[in-house]
Amino acid sequence: MTPKHPLIFETSVPGRRGAAFPLKKSSTKAAVPEKWKRKKLAGLPEVSEFDVVRHFTRLSQLNFSADTNFYPLGSCTMKYNPKINDKTSMFAGFTGVHPYQTSETMQGTLELMWNLERSLCDLTGMDAFSLHPAAGAQGELAGLLVAHAYFDARGEKRTKVLVPDSAHGTNPASAALAGYSVHSIPSNDKGRVNKKALAEALGPDVSLVMITCPNTLGLFEDEIQEVADLVHKAGALLYMDGANFNALVGLVEPARLGFDIMHLNLHKTFSVPHGGGGPGAGPVGVKKYLEKFLPMPRIEKKDKQFNLVTDSKTSIGQLRAFFGNSGALVRAYTYIATLGHDGLRSVSENAIINANYLLSHLKGLFKPYIDEHCMHECVLSASEYAKSGIRTLDIVKRLLDYGFYAPTVYFPLIVPEAMMVEPTETESKKTMDEFVRAMNKIMDEAKTNPAMVQTAPHTTPVRRLDEVTAARNPILRWSPEAQSQEALAK
Ligand SMILES: *Cc1c(COP(=O)(O)O)cnc(C)c1O
Repeated sequence: MTPKHPLIFETSVPGRRGAAFPLKKSSTKAAVPEKWKRKKLAGLPEVSEFDVVRHFTRLSQLNFSADTNFYPLGSCTMKYNPKINDKTSMFAGFTGVHPYQTSETMQGTLELMWNLERSLCDLTGMDAFSLHPAAGAQGELAGLLVAHAYFDARGEKRTKVLVPDSAHGTNPASAALAGYSVHSIPSNDKGRVNKKALAEALGPDVSLVMITCPNTLGLFEDEIQEVADLVHKAGALLYMDGANFNALVGLVEPARLGFDIMHLNLHKTFSVPHGGGGPGAGPVGVKKYLEKFLPMPRIEKKDKQFNLVTDSKTSIGQLRAFFGNSGALVRAYTYIATLGHDGLRSVSENAIINANYLLSHLKGLFKPYIDEHCMHECVLSASEYAKSGIRTLDIVKRLLDYGFYAPTVYFPLIVPEAMMVEPTETESKKTMDEFVRAMNKIMDEAKTNPAMVQTAPHTTPVRRLDEVTAARNPILRWSPEAQSQEALAK
């Protein structure tokens, strides 16, 4: 059992210092005006430099991360983040740029972004990308606003967005945020969009149909071209949620399947580190006729000069400050340049092989929701065990004791006791075999010693957390009162 570590405030010793400054009376009269000076000390912890290093190093080790453990979190693509990407993104030429500089003084940064945009167009078949959105969900919002601007310009009023029930949850949320009414389309018995239900829901009031591809069941929409025809016949546009392009890169060009607008998550497919709310990037791509509506700023190339274009009459405008998360863009471009087109294709091929390898070994324990080959992730159901009091949550909590991060659970919503496993291409057969062995052990324990599973985890720094209270009533600031509240709760 890991010992409880004190808060840094609890380690404070009056008078202890990390750094000593020379005691010298300020000679300048123009120092901080008296009225701005604090009357009471700030109450910062008084600790030595070594105390600080040990405290934060220890905290960093309490975390699960892709760098320390297998992290099969479905839909999230927790792949290895190559360290060379961090190195290039820290080049002074990139970190030293100020967003208010003129274009002539940041040609290198603009050229990289231009090249990244071109690479994303090559990989997806789209004609243009805006690198501006900060995350997948913001890319969706941008795409929805582009569709809105397009129909506005044509004088068409379309108020509805259709979303299959197997779509990622951000799709209906983004559509609602963009002011649309959202209608759910059921899946058919193969886990794909039900074409009959789609055809019935389509009409002159539908703006966009948003398809997650591969869908959240880890399946390819095998009738996507027929779906695209239906959508276009009704005058609507087809949107691809390409957050999970990790299964398709180098293999499929979404523009050729009939998609008009899409977004990518550079912080999944293109190896930018993510999780914990770290900066991501959700570029939004479109076909030529929609380019003029893309969010600003964009980059244009004239002769050999790159220019940042910040105003346009037709653009939906800006969704956040400046160009985007430029460090994430440098990382993604480094990844693309390192692997090249063939390398990227083998990323997807290996992601698919790995997921199918896990699926074939886990099938004996859990029921696949749809029993066929998957793409980059597989969805299994532990509903058989629920009768004997073992829930999916118990199983994945027990995985933590075996040193594995828990897969995504209870998603997609249409699968009871769901478990969504995504190994990514960067895991070895050995790691996946160890994962399967742990799963087998846990399901043995579920029979012989169910309490062990039901009360897991046992070895982590904290046990089962009250996640609802943590979200509804967070204590984010240290104070003696918060301390005693916490003590009372125990
Ligand atoms: C992760 C994900 C999103 C949301 O991306 P964020 O960057 O977290 O906003 C949207 N759709 C799918 C399919 C995803 O996997």
